[in-house]
Amino acid sequence: MDTDPLHGLDVKSMPKIELHAHLSGSISPTCLHEIWISKKQRDPDSAADLPDPLQELAPSKAFDLVTFFPLFSKYIYELCNDAENISYSTKSVLQDFQDDGVVYLELRTTPRLIKQAGITKEAYVQLVLSTISSFESPTMVTKLILSIDRRNSEEEASEAVDLALRYRDQGVVGVDLCGDPAKGNVDIFRSAFARAKENGLKTTIHFAEAQQSSSEHELRTLLSFGPDRIGHVIHVPDDIKEVIIERKLGLELCLSCNVKFKMTSGSFADHHFMYWKGTGCPITLCTDDVGVVGSALSNEYALIAEHFGLEPREVYELARSGIETIFGGDDEKERLRKLMWH
Ligand SMILES: [Zn+2]
Repeated sequence: MDTDPLHGLDVKSMPKIELHAHLSGSISPTCLHEIWISKKQRDPDSAADLPDPLQELAPSKAFDLVTFFPLFSKYIYELCNDAENISYSTKSVLQDFQDDGVVYLELRTTPRLIKQAGITKEAYVQLVLSTISSFESPTMVTKLILSIDRRNSEEEASEAVDLALRYRDQGVVGVDLCGDPAKGNVDIFRSAFARAKENGLKTTIHFAEAQQSSSEHELRTLLSFGPDRIGHVIHVPDDIKEVIIERKLGLELCLSCNVKFKMTSGSFADHHFMYWKGTGCPITLCTDDVGVVGSALSNEYALIAEHFGLEPREVYELARSGIETIFGGDDEKERLRKLMWH
């Protein structure tokens, strides 16, 4: 009897696409630890209040949506707050995805203003893009999505779209709406998303991530922005599900993140992946914040195979199903169709 839930499938070497990965949340604890050490060596005071990332982000650490967002503003951003460390950590993230068998990556990041380091939002975007372009990979293509944070003002959202348009020929492919689901009023982002779409940028939105961000009004408003893809898609009322299915929207589903942060009830087998699998919406498994969640993309496929009893053929099919929803253009889709066909 075959007791291997993967039936011999090598999920790591299987070519995969990752469409929902936040840059700062994807930095491994090991990389953050290295940055922490070098900061302490250079200036003991600079990291004095920051605990060791290997402890702060230990696998046993439990986060929920209340403790998760301050982790960025008060900790990871504090560690990666100069050009050298932003570049170093970005490179490390790219290497980790490549080592995990990712062949197409859409990283996303909120343009950061880091006053004490003299880094403007534009300089930050340039820095991330130049790090991506100098990362030589024989197999992995990386694109960038600029995120609008729910706490942003209308002007800040507009600025993110300006930057996305200005750097689209250097690898920016779209705009995202992210951030603490308990914060913000999404109505104010209508014009920013409209302008992004009018100018040919792709759009994705964190959708129904928490109960607080899943009111009928909010979800209808977000759908009226006409997103190309939506992420998480957890607390969705039936009438909204119908719209999503009718539009065949691309879905970015983040299994381990949802279970570990208790965004969904129950365990892996209770995840809404199974519901959406039967709807015809293209699904892409994504890690969201692998540095904090601790489950690589290959492991997400292993979990899916294990908990939902998918055969290797179905796992390959799932890995390919997001190709048509990538933001990287037709040539890239064609490359992936060839590469991921088994
Ligand atoms: Zn996310």
